[in-house]
Amino acid sequence: MKNAVAVLFACVLLAASLAHGQGRIRVMLLDGQNNHDWRATTPVLKKILDEAGLFDTTVVTAPEIANPAFATFKPDFSQYRVVVMNYNNGIDGKAPEWGDELKKSFEAFVQNGGGMVSIHGADNAFPHWPAFNDMIGVGGWGARDEKSGPLWYYKEGKLVSDETPGRAGAHGARLPFLVTARDASHPIMKGLPKAWMHHGDELYMNLRGPGKNMTVLATAFADPKNRGTGRDEPMVMVLPFGKGRVVHLPMGHDVPAMSSVDFVVLTQRGTEWAATGAVTQKVPANFPTATNVSYRTDLLMMDPAFWPAPPK
Ligand code: ZN
Repeated sequence: MKNAVAVLFACVLLAASLAHGQGRIRVMLLDGQNNHDWRATTPVLKKILDEAGLFDTTVVTAPEIANPAFATFKPDFSQYRVVVMNYNNGIDGKAPEWGDELKKSFEAFVQNGGGMVSIHGADNAFPHWPAFNDMIGVGGWGARDEKSGPLWYYKEGKLVSDETPGRAGAHGARLPFLVTARDASHPIMKGLPKAWMHHGDELYMNLRGPGKNMTVLATAFADPKNRGTGRDEPMVMVLPFGKGRVVHLPMGHDVPAMSSVDFVVLTQRGTEWAATGAVTQKVPANFPTATNVSYRTDLLMMDPAFWPAPPK
């Protein structure tokens, strides 16, 4: 009888802990400052992560760096397995960056095995923070130029660096584009098609950076007809940083871009891989093909811009 009560008690505790998300991967979704509409996109990213059923995601909203309240922003990164960055400090090269203490605390987190997922404009952040640029491999804007590192792109099936001087970061109009897988064996890419259409988004190009130990899992051709470079630009990247794993997704400008099923899948799989080094999620049947985009109407409708302003 005593044993039965003990087992029952253990079951109740287990159910309670699962209900509280224990046993799931703790994720910090960082926002609060961005030259993109983070207030509109964070709920979409949160929903994407929640749907995977693997993550216990906490949205952490940083005060703007220029706000005196920022002095008290000292998140305990060690409470999380992964930080998903829907965040940047602005795209002006003179924009204030985090203080040394906060930078060191984040570096130590990733160095000691924490994961980091950089979403779209997060790679515009912190041009003057060498460790951050080592994590993301390449970045754009923020007055980055040849001093930030070479251009990186795919040429004749191989990743190349190009020392041509100039600014970093550009994109054309937000149109659908073809994404090509470059490493089918990586856990994030297993089961994905060789090529697929991504729903209307900014195709980031001319990204520059140290590119140290950067593996490019997918590229997208930046079509000169849409002010493109005519090159295969890196579109999904993974990098080690100490014991930590970084996933860099240049896609995801706004809610419509995030509603693209490939963005949903890459965010879910990328976050799991950054946390654990493995991916257990199946590729959904509605993943886009080489000829057709596939997007989620339910996510699209979360865009405040989708809804007309109420009559005055
Ligand atoms: Zn953008």
